[in-house]
Amino acid sequence: MSENSKPVDPSRREFVVKASAATSAAAIAPGVFLTAPASARPADQPVTGDKRWGILVDTNKCADNCNDCVTACETENGWGDSEPNSAPEQRTQWIRTVEIKNKSTGYAKTLPLMCQHCETAPCVDVCPTGASFRRDDGIVLVDKHICIGCRYCMMACPYKARSFIHEDLHDQKPWAPRGKGTVESCTMCVHRVDEGGTPACVEACSAENHNALIFGDLYDENSEISRELQKHDSVELRGDLGLNTGVRYRGI
Ligand code: SF4
Ligand code: SF4
Repeated sequence: MSENSKPVDPSRREFVVKASAATSAAAIAPGVFLTAPASARPADQPVTGDKRWGILVDTNKCADNCNDCVTACETENGWGDSEPNSAPEQRTQWIRTVEIKNKSTGYAKTLPLMCQHCETAPCVDVCPTGASFRRDDGIVLVDKHICIGCRYCMMACPYKARSFIHEDLHDQKPWAPRGKGTVESCTMCVHRVDEGGTPACVEACSAENHNALIFGDLYDENSEISRELQKHDSVELRGDLGLNTGVRYRGI
């Protein structure tokens, strides 16, 4: 565990495992593991630091005006149109497309932005209740049961990756529990990962043959993501902050 990690609430871990077991592998379409599949962790085994999950985004492969990763996340986790009465800028967004621009040349690029699953996570550091926590495998989550909605974490996140839920919610996905008055962000589809699967955004991108997203174990030098990181240069967004993010980018 990194020195900035907090102990994982065992009840939360158990909940995630049970929720995953309840949904089984139904959400994972057959034959879509085009990127390094995770090996499923037995449900009675704790999360360990033997792996560190990450995502590599090759922005050169992001198709023009493509929103497939965002749509897949909305559908998978049920946040797409869950707050119809809120102003657009206040609605939940676990992943969004943003344009970055070189001010001196005007060169612009669009890329998907979600929680970067920082090792030194500012959201975890500032959370007064321990609701924001980092699992030993690098996935950063919010325990909705102890989040008090103070939104310190939203202010601390340099990527604006977190959202606050303003409305009562209906038709929630059982594997992605949410709650009015709490904060949430990308879970790296932890319910899928714990079953040996791939995040929904990565799966959708591969299904459309864009292959701009690669998911895998950053600690395994033979995983596809590690091999790609060895072969080509990549960056962390706001690498100057030294957060050692689990999400890396190429082509920017
Ligand atoms: Fe926390 Fe933001 Fe880093 Fe995600 S990107 S771990 S929400 S600080
Ligand atoms: Fe922690 Fe919730 Fe406050 Fe965020 S809003 S800092 S998760 S208690």
